[in-house]
Amino acid sequence: MSFVDHVSVFVRAGDGGDGCIAFRREKHKPLGGPSGGDGGRGGDVRFIAASRITTLLDLQYKRTLIGEHGEHGRGKDQYGKGGADLLVTVPVGTQVFDEETGELVCDMTVDGEVVVVARGGTGGRGNMHFATPWDRIPRRAETGQKGEQKKLRLELKLLADVGVVGFPNVGKSTFIAAVSKARPKIADYPFTTLVPNLGVASLGPERSFVIADIPGIIEGASQGAGLGLRFLQHVERCRVLLHVVAPDPGEGRDLVHDYDVLVRELATFDAELAQRPMLVVVGKCDLPEAEDGLEALRARLAPLGQAPLVMSAATHEGIHEVLIALERLLLDAPPPSRKPRMSVLTRRKGRGQGQDELDDELDDELDEAAEDEAAEDEAAEDE
Ligand code: GDP
Ligand code: MG
Repeated sequence: MSFVDHVSVFVRAGDGGDGCIAFRREKHKPLGGPSGGDGGRGGDVRFIAASRITTLLDLQYKRTLIGEHGEHGRGKDQYGKGGADLLVTVPVGTQVFDEETGELVCDMTVDGEVVVVARGGTGGRGNMHFATPWDRIPRRAETGQKGEQKKLRLELKLLADVGVVGFPNVGKSTFIAAVSKARPKIADYPFTTLVPNLGVASLGPERSFVIADIPGIIEGASQGAGLGLRFLQHVERCRVLLHVVAPDPGEGRDLVHDYDVLVRELATFDAELAQRPMLVVVGKCDLPEAEDGLEALRARLAPLGQAPLVMSAATHEGIHEVLIALERLLLDAPPPSRKPRMSVLTRRKGRGQGQDELDDELDDELDEAAEDEAAEDEAAEDE
């Protein structure tokens, strides 16, 4: 079960420069020898893994990645300059596949790890290297090698950086739609009835993050009812929570009521999740009832050192400020761990085992759960 962001890119390393054919022509040296220098090496295309970025969004806009060509060799024994390597930052967790063969080229798992994905061509040798006692005026030089080129497909299992929580109809989905620069594909998602709402928000290059709606949290999710719980187990890895409340919720509710109930619900599900940094935002500020209950909510949050932001996903008012505030919280939060946090499923498995084993078990269990569910669905259809 995963959210997978993917992008196909064309990478082309620089060609090596050609070797040069030249001869020395100098005064008082009638027998000038060959003096053609070598071509410079072509620049590589290299990927460097960084944990500070969490999406492939930047590559969506720049899909052709080209290393610089090496310079050709020149006369007077001059070598061509090597082409500059192109360094492309990708998020930690990115898997790189060869688009044609489907082969896994590399798995970028460590912050700072560098992998050459297309090697630059070597420069050709100039004719200065080809002089022999039998051939003192060699008229040949090598051409530079072509740089490697290929189509690559990058895949990244997305972790939600920001989990959006709130009562139904407060505008969570509308908010995600309003700020999304990209809608990653949701791969292998087994829950047909509950599609997670996922978007990539961006404040600029290398300033994007993943926002996911956590649906169903209030409908008894913490008691394990229905799909909500399993969905939560996946999204609970988000580093920051955005808690949306909206004015005029009806049914005797108000902002403070909704806030309190949801925080309690979160804590019941997972005390640790409830401790996650949380930004409280009052949505739908374009409504005439926008001020209703706002002062009370401010008073409720003030002792916690928090002040609610106000926005409207409909008119986009205040949305930029919300993104800035989220980014700030993310920068302060610990960097994303590609490893699943110990979840409800693994927590009861004792503590002696290594985290890797626990993770594998978690994955297995989630797979099993998905299979069980598929089987149940089939059974239901048969009836
Ligand atoms: P969710 O259940 O929290 O995902 O809520 P939705 O995003 O589906 O929104 C519920 C309803 O509120 C929809 O009818 C939206 O059109 C409406 N809505 C969402 N955001 C705003 C807003 O900023 N202003 C107004 N006036 N309506 C909004
Ligand atoms: Mg929704």
